[in-house]
Amino acid sequence: MTEIRSREEIYIGGEWVPSSGHGVIEVVSPNTEEVIATAPDATLADMDAAVAAARNAMDHGPWPRMDKAERLAAISALSAELLANGQAVADTISAENGCPAKWSFGGQVMSATMTLDAFAAIGADYELDSVRTGGLGQNVRVLKTPVGVVAGITPWNAPLFIMALKLGPAMVTGSPIIIKASPETPLDAYLLADAVEAVGLPPGVVNVVAAGREASDHLVRHPGIDKVAFTGSTATGRHIGSICGEQLKRCSLELGGKSAAIVLEDFDLTSVPELIDSGMLNNGQACLAQTRILAPRSRYNEVVDAMATHVAAMVVGDSLDPGTDIGPMVTARQRDRVVGYLEIARDEGARAVTGGSVPADRDRGWFVEPTVLAGVDNSMRVAREEIFGPVLSVIPYDGEDEAVAIANDSDYGLSGSVWSADADHARDLATRVRTGTVAINTQLNLDWHSPFGGMKNSGVGRELGPEGIDQYVEYQSIIDAPG
Ligand code: NAD
Repeated sequence: MTEIRSREEIYIGGEWVPSSGHGVIEVVSPNTEEVIATAPDATLADMDAAVAAARNAMDHGPWPRMDKAERLAAISALSAELLANGQAVADTISAENGCPAKWSFGGQVMSATMTLDAFAAIGADYELDSVRTGGLGQNVRVLKTPVGVVAGITPWNAPLFIMALKLGPAMVTGSPIIIKASPETPLDAYLLADAVEAVGLPPGVVNVVAAGREASDHLVRHPGIDKVAFTGSTATGRHIGSICGEQLKRCSLELGGKSAAIVLEDFDLTSVPELIDSGMLNNGQACLAQTRILAPRSRYNEVVDAMATHVAAMVVGDSLDPGTDIGPMVTARQRDRVVGYLEIARDEGARAVTGGSVPADRDRGWFVEPTVLAGVDNSMRVAREEIFGPVLSVIPYDGEDEAVAIANDSDYGLSGSVWSADADHARDLATRVRTGTVAINTQLNLDWHSPFGGMKNSGVGRELGPEGIDQYVEYQSIIDAPG
């Protein structure tokens, strides 16, 4: 078993340094409710120091001016380093946030290394310097210069993967970054810092700190920050977006979701386990979770029954136990929030066909039974608000036009899916869904080489693919005199 290691220092300017304060983050196991490790709670002054180090790397260091191929080699080296330590990283994340061990190596670690590998590959074809013919026949050199110093602010649910989503494009373009990890998951962030140190990047290129709201807010507002890359809740995203708007800072926001899986008339029930996984992955604590299952009324009971049978057989348990399907919620607050939604569902007239409460046999840990809610109408709060737990709402529809209308009747627009024996028809229907990604007959709702992100309240901007790199550049046109 991996040792879950406390940390005494933060990673700034290519060095492990003590925090300027004495605040400590206690990492509490969601399985046992016991403190399993501690890490420094970075202060406002630590944020200033991190910005100064990154600014120095940007304004005076070799990194932004280095040949792109060298930076891409560093991305590949970082990916390899993380993968070499992958099991320890996966166990650490499972211990911190309750992600089931059976999913964490692939879902938490390999998703991150594959992201870095994808950016190393895409970066090779991504032109930072090109010449075009201007409107008067003159040469115009168009440069994609680094966006500058980036604040990468990340959540606890898929911490390493989301850090990689920001690290990869920042490294391609030569933009130094400060990763501000969530206070629920500081330990894996410092394992990333270990990997950065092992690879030997120039000082200040990647800085890693974990801190709470106040220090994070200070980082966002800091005049030395050129761009904020945020992933988290819509409420925090709105707040950060407003600061960036005021300060005219570059900003990308990856926010919440309430995605719909449209199950068509010809749906094959053998796909039910995958359909459920697409909503229950990471204990349902995933932004792209397909939590509204839209089923044709003619097959509604059949779909609900098949889902209930499968979900009732899911094993709820300690996140580090390899047999566990559903681990605990990340915090007591999150458990209470999910349980609160189960009560709201009952009050609104929905029916839990399986689950619906906390497991009776667990007196420690923040567990919630995986739940299928039937009799849900799209106007109910459980269908409109992000629950972020193992709760699926099955909503009936009459005809595909209504299915599309229900899918689109949401404040969110992150992802979606269509499930049908006729993949061509499903692909056509997908174009009518107003979300950043739509998957066809699969739980894989994002692709490493293609843009990922949200419409509406799910965010602004895209990550992954060359479009993800575009968010980390400033264009500069150098215009010759007309000949
Ligand atoms: P959160 O918004 O509470 O916190 C996210 C990060 O922002 C944390 O690092 C937190 O410390 C920091 N933060 C909080 N308040 C801040 C402030 N005022 N100023 C600056 N930073 C602040 O979100 P969470 O609970 O950690 O994560 C869950 C949410 O993230 C869900 O809504 C989920 O849908 C969303 N999410 C979105 C994506 C995506 O790609 N769209 C991916 C994963 C998670």
